[in-house]
Amino acid sequence: MYDHDTIAAIATPPGNGGVAIIRVSGPQAETTARKIFVLSASQDPLLSHHFYFGRVTDPLTGSSLDQGLLVLMRAPHSYTGEDVAEVHCHGGSFLSRRILEVVLSQGARLALPGEFTKRAFLNNRLDLSQAEAVLDLIQAKSEQGMQLAWEQLSGRLSDVCTAIRERLLGLIAYVEACLDFPEEDIPARAQDEIQEEIVMLTREISSLSATFSQGRVYREGIRTALVGKPNVGKSSLLNLLSGTERAIVTSIPGTTRDVLEETIIVDGIPLVIWDTAGLRHTTDEIERIGVERAKAGVQAAELVVAIFDASRPLDGEDDIVIKTVSQKKTIPVLNKVDLPLIVQPTDLEQRLSGAPPVLLSAQDGTGLGELSKRIKHLTFGDTPFSRDQREPSGALIARVRHRDALIKAEQSLTQARASLDGGVPLDLVAVDLRAALDHIGEITGHVTSEDILDRVFRDFCIGK
Ligand code: GDP
Repeated sequence: MYDHDTIAAIATPPGNGGVAIIRVSGPQAETTARKIFVLSASQDPLLSHHFYFGRVTDPLTGSSLDQGLLVLMRAPHSYTGEDVAEVHCHGGSFLSRRILEVVLSQGARLALPGEFTKRAFLNNRLDLSQAEAVLDLIQAKSEQGMQLAWEQLSGRLSDVCTAIRERLLGLIAYVEACLDFPEEDIPARAQDEIQEEIVMLTREISSLSATFSQGRVYREGIRTALVGKPNVGKSSLLNLLSGTERAIVTSIPGTTRDVLEETIIVDGIPLVIWDTAGLRHTTDEIERIGVERAKAGVQAAELVVAIFDASRPLDGEDDIVIKTVSQKKTIPVLNKVDLPLIVQPTDLEQRLSGAPPVLLSAQDGTGLGELSKRIKHLTFGDTPFSRDQREPSGALIARVRHRDALIKAEQSLTQARASLDGGVPLDLVAVDLRAALDHIGEITGHVTSEDILDRVFRDFCIGK
């Protein structure tokens, strides 16, 4: 599970930038870094958490590669909990890879994805939910997603799980104490108390698990497809929503040939938008590929915004759009309402046999508020989410792994309660309670396996 060797990787993103950081962690971190870094003023020993200026050199050839900074963070006061050395060099992609190569030539091993964070977990610098929060913070798509990740990194979810675990441990201890009595001597009151605590814990776990539907949206966003035949105003709407000119707006049909993905925040909800090539029959090969991908995009989308042009009669191409989206959660939009209306909203509503369309002008912004309202409603249903309406602990879960563990814990408690009701011996009730305890422990990593660790750290990049 833990190789105590020294690992290294480039911690900054690929490509050219101002600065690149080569991170080294493990027992040989300091020795390795000092072999490749010549200080401009000699100093021995180096102080932890201090920057030193110097030259990066290749000890095999003796040649200098760059000038930069070296910082040591000695164990246990480092990200990984081990000795860490970081070389800050100029941010060239070739240069930083070359320096990494030199570090590796001195005995360090290239780190696996997420290995620095995995070591931080194994050295108790972070629990598992906090390690996941590091990744969520890096990948946050919105203000809410970022806050959620930060709260989790600060230990909010860990605290809630610890509190639940402690109550479960108390309950198990109580049940086990009762085991020492002969069956007939267990006070009836004890049965009631155990019952009551199981019910309360179940309720708490279930309300925490119910926050997943909101947390997930903030973490991942909603996969959204913008569909409609060419020229109805998809790109214009995308631009209006994003407030920038990211998609090419043009009046030549079929120029948005690829599926363009970007995240747009609407009322705090990150929409991962798929702008499409237009769902029409086409003979143009490249455009046809675009259309096929657009159809696949609709199938993969959780939310579809289907756009129709109010200034031109509905036609066969619109019918294809209607057919394609018929099984999906769809918001119909009648665009260009600033022009004389050729299509009446009721015409469209009849063809769609669904909700009335949002009347929009992507040109002047009319109807944008209504569109946002519909998006919010379709995402969160009738219980509009606000931060004040969180469950009492204030925690919000955003990962399938956490939700699954909570569901399993809840099932174990339900089983424990059924056993208690059915007069099953208390030692069997205790088994179910222990199972619930383990499931809660999986969230923070109190209980873990190589399989769980693989699941958590495989999504990280190399260098994190
Ligand atoms: P797409 O092919 O569906 O992406 O459509 P575009 O966004 O490229 O728009 C096609 C044409 O319709 C462009 O000339 C836009 O300026 C125009 N257009 C888009 N939305 C509106 C609108 O609400 N009102 C008017 N009058 N024109 C619009």
